Amino acid sequence: MTQNKNITVVGAGTMGNGIAHVFAQFGYKVNLCDVKKDFLDRALQTITKNLDRQIKKEIINESLKQETLDNISVTTDLASAVVDSSLIIEAVTEDIKVKTDIFKTVDEKAPANAIISSNTSSISITELAAITKRPEKVIGMHFMNPVPMMKLVEIIRGLATGDETYQTIKAITESLQKTPVEVNDYPGFVSNRVLLPMLNEAMYCVMEGVAEPEAIDTVMKLGMNHPMGPLTLADFIGLDVCLSIMEVLHEGLGDDKYRPCPLLKKMVAAGRLGRKTGKGFYEYNK
Ligand code: NAD
Repeated sequence: MTQNKNITVVGAGTMGNGIAHVFAQFGYKVNLCDVKKDFLDRALQTITKNLDRQIKKEIINESLKQETLDNISVTTDLASAVVDSSLIIEAVTEDIKVKTDIFKTVDEKAPANAIISSNTSSISITELAAITKRPEKVIGMHFMNPVPMMKLVEIIRGLATGDETYQTIKAITESLQKTPVEVNDYPGFVSNRVLLPMLNEAMYCVMEGVAEPEAIDTVMKLGMNHPMGPLTLADFIGLDVCLSIMEVLHEGLGDDKYRPCPLLKKMVAAGRLGRKTGKGFYEYNK
């Protein structure tokens, strides 16, 4: 760790609450920041629920649950939150404008030697780094959902990311009992560049009438030993998120093999976004 175990997680949504949970569980003091108190309350409820789940599975005990919760402070004041942080992890909405504002504030207010990282799935780390006066201290930490359960963290090196920054983040990731994998900054990194075209192809199979969604998922589960079929997974990720990642791959790599499936576009336009809206390739009871 660069100087202390104080960190700030910006964004308390799906990923931010999971990231805060894991850091706090492993002894870091976490400032969890969002724009509204309601969102922070909801995040604390989710963290508590997930800690209870870990107790049930005998991964942690009651006292570690309490310690974890005690290690988390919540705030809507980003500028004050970061003044004593040695690491800031940005996990806000996937929108370059929102992230740009946060990177500017954090760069201005955080200690000069603090590392700024982003959990972005598809925005260039090199571009985010260029907003700051410390591009060598900017790096991607791409956690997987659900964060408390998933072992992998893709560590994304931007063009200017320094070796010291990489080594520090690698060590921090290991201190969370997670496995860091070093990846260079290209559209979709490795995880989404390999995964999303497969999901997109499964959607083409639906569109062209090759098979029904259940049949496609069964082929991939039983035939390829995937724990979840591609269309179930796409519904879980959110079809709007899938579409925006395909667009990033298509635009960033300039190859038509990444063109988003027209059926995916149509479903997003209709508001069928998967699990979160109750309807995607499958229907869900809310
Ligand atoms: P989410 O919509 O669940 O949460 C985003 C949170 O950011 C919201 O609570 C929102 O209020 C907050 N926010 C927005 N503007 C803010 C601001 N100015 N300051 C503070 N907070 C602000 O989104 P998510 O799924 O948690 O995704 C967050 C990031 O993680 C994105 O960059 C996404 O690409 C990435 N990611 C998501 C997944 C996933 O499976 N959901 C996986 C890996 C990476």
